[in-house]
Amino acid sequence: MTAGPAPQDRLHLPPGSVIGVLGGGQLGRMLALAAARLGYRCHVYEPAAECPAAHVARHTAAAWDDAAALDVFAASVDVITLEFENVPVETVERLAASKPVRPGAAALRVAQDRAAEKTFLNKAGIETAPWADIPDAAALDAALERIGRPSVLKTARFGYDGKGQAVIRDGDAAADAWAAVGAQRSVLEGFVDFSLEVSVLAARTEDGEIRCFEPVENRHRDGVLHKTLAPAPIAADVADRAVEIACKALSALDYVGLLAVEMFVMPDGRVLANEIAPRPHNSGHWTIDGAATSQFEQTVRAICGLPLGEVSRLGAVEMENLIGEEVDAWPDLLAEPGARLHLYGKRETRPGRKMGHVTRLRRDEA
Ligand code: AMP
Repeated sequence: MTAGPAPQDRLHLPPGSVIGVLGGGQLGRMLALAAARLGYRCHVYEPAAECPAAHVARHTAAAWDDAAALDVFAASVDVITLEFENVPVETVERLAASKPVRPGAAALRVAQDRAAEKTFLNKAGIETAPWADIPDAAALDAALERIGRPSVLKTARFGYDGKGQAVIRDGDAAADAWAAVGAQRSVLEGFVDFSLEVSVLAARTEDGEIRCFEPVENRHRDGVLHKTLAPAPIAADVADRAVEIACKALSALDYVGLLAVEMFVMPDGRVLANEIAPRPHNSGHWTIDGAATSQFEQTVRAICGLPLGEVSRLGAVEMENLIGEEVDAWPDLLAEPGARLHLYGKRETRPGRKMGHVTRLRRDEA
């Protein structure tokens, strides 16, 4: 682990400073709201003219490769973070020449590419499902021999919410799976028979202090996160292993900011890392209403050089995503005692689109 820069050289941005945010979705919106509570302002850079974060922050709508717009944006902020991991690395590198970007290009490069991600995790001593890099169709046949079936082919880049994936079972033709993911560079993973999925949201400061929210259980529906339950129903030693994985990943990346690590808990108690996200994460939304510090405030603290906040949980928490037309239940959710409703202000409801979430906290149950 690195000790980081000498204390006098560490970045310390007091309230009143401006945080630049790359990406303008709901994560940027909730980040801006948390930042505002601490007296910071946010300036969002997002190519789309209309986006959830623009309702609550200054917004520059320009392309990721618009050098002039990037330079003006960089000049207007004190530190830069991201809420979207498919920001081109070149964009981050250009910005980093004039302002600190946290997390930086190195973490982004790892998180953007599943092969780079798994290589990084394994090198850091973190176990994953068995996997193989699949640059072309021929490599898929060879990898299937080694990894076996069922297995899952995933595009190396730009996959999210289960998109760009094809499960290969007994009798399935490899060529069909290759076509289904768009005949592009991919990874093949052994399909693991996990007991449950968990994630850990972990923050690290410039001087190497780490704080992790406890592991939570994530339940998916149609490949999209449906519910997060805190705490995850796992034994203490399993929870410790999950937290240890997140700490290892943070330190190995010399990371500054908040990182989400998604993991599979196996029936024998092993914990396998699946994915990392270099930003606040849907499975951390429960912290807004259910923890002493929210994941968004923790992000602000970590990137601005403030002390990290307490990560204690306030009770038993359930976070439920409102996907597509589920958001139409908002009047009932507003009327439900104890339910805390969060809407993302998206103008158009589309099937599969994350429109908001609701958190239910039972304070009497630790
Ligand atoms: P991912 O895009 O990698 O997060 O995958 C989306 C979802 O697919 C995960 O949350 C799991 O529910 C499932 N999944 C992904 N990879 C595997 C795997 N190797 N074995 C079993 N299930 C998987």
